[in-house]
Amino acid sequence: MRVKILGSAAGGGFPQWNCSCPNCFSIRKGHFSGTARTQTQLVFSCDLDNWALVNASPDLRLQIEASPELWPSNGRRSPIAGVIVTSAEVDQILGLLLLREFHSFQIHATTAIRRILTEDNSLFGVLKRFAGQVHWHDIPIDRAFTTGGTRVEAVPLVDSFPGYVSKTRAAAFDPEESNIGLLLSPESGGGKLAFLPGCGSVPEALIERLESCDVLLFDGTFWSNGEPMHIPGLGRTALQIGHIPISGAGGSLERLATLTRARKIFIHINNTNPMLDEESPEYRTVRDSGWEVAYDGMEIDL
Ligand SMILES: [Zn+2]
Repeated sequence: MRVKILGSAAGGGFPQWNCSCPNCFSIRKGHFSGTARTQTQLVFSCDLDNWALVNASPDLRLQIEASPELWPSNGRRSPIAGVIVTSAEVDQILGLLLLREFHSFQIHATTAIRRILTEDNSLFGVLKRFAGQVHWHDIPIDRAFTTGGTRVEAVPLVDSFPGYVSKTRAAAFDPEESNIGLLLSPESGGGKLAFLPGCGSVPEALIERLESCDVLLFDGTFWSNGEPMHIPGLGRTALQIGHIPISGAGGSLERLATLTRARKIFIHINNTNPMLDEESPEYRTVRDSGWEVAYDGMEIDL
């Protein structure tokens, strides 16, 4: 099974259109030791012919064009067979609207996410322009399911629903269905990959679940808890917006230090994160701790 990281940045990408933080400023000026990144997006396949997306980022069109394995053939036959959606956040679902051009595919999402998208947002009507355009499948959060030869387990990461969902509506849904991580492994045997791009805490039960994983793609949004406090308009800590910071007491470097089996990779990296600069002490700390930093185009075989 091959997993390809099409995008590795947090919402907004790197650089972000309205940001001139030191990272965004430097990369635009051409004197930055690191690469630009599109918004977090994975794709995986067992047969290298039919591919499933994990989420659908706003950058999806560019990400497909940068990936020859996702190019169409025989007229309009796209190798994209399905999408697994892990939350209803705009960064994860906007790309679904880009897949509206008369192509049939599957979408796997929790019941809550499916209902928010299809019942509350009329724009998603573009995905039912003809019978059979999109087949929705509800993801069970308490047992595995399979798609395209891949076994998928949801990891509920209890979170809040996106801000565009009214409080009344959100209260009607199970909070366990608001944001899920995924464990992916080939049905025929092979390694297991964990994808947890938005994780607000790391309880012991989660660490135990990750101990059997061979690859961990984990929330690398913010370096420090105070980092988003400096983002105009946000004014909250990393933990307050559902992202455990990398550094500091209780940060992910410390909390996940006992995981020794998995290859550990930070993904969903915000443009303000100093570890994007490969000459920074933060990047050196991450690498010296045995972690990697995901980049667009990175491939992982399981
Ligand atoms: Zn920036």
